[in-house]
Amino acid sequence: MALKCPECGTTAHTRTSAYESASVKRIWYQCTNLDCSCTFTALESVEKIIMKPQKPAESESKTETLSAARQPQTLGRYGSASKLSNRQQSPT
Ligand SMILES: [Zn+2]
Repeated sequence: MALKCPECGTTAHTRTSAYESASVKRIWYQCTNLDCSCTFTALESVEKIIMKPQKPAESESKTETLSAARQPQTLGRYGSASKLSNRQQSPT
């Protein structure tokens, strides 16, 4: 993202940027005109969310089905592990 220098109108380049908050970013600009070399900051912020992604709701339902599918596998693993550890269990 480039911005025009407020002093001379030459395109200024981004030097660095830092987030002020989750939806606001402060950007440091420097004018590319060597005779001007004006430095200034600008704020870039989220104005309006036009359309929210529907993925989070889908992923929640997927994780629910995954966790439901994982439970039998975990039980199966414990079952095989207990068979292997029969020798370890017998002394106790
Ligand atoms: Zn300038």
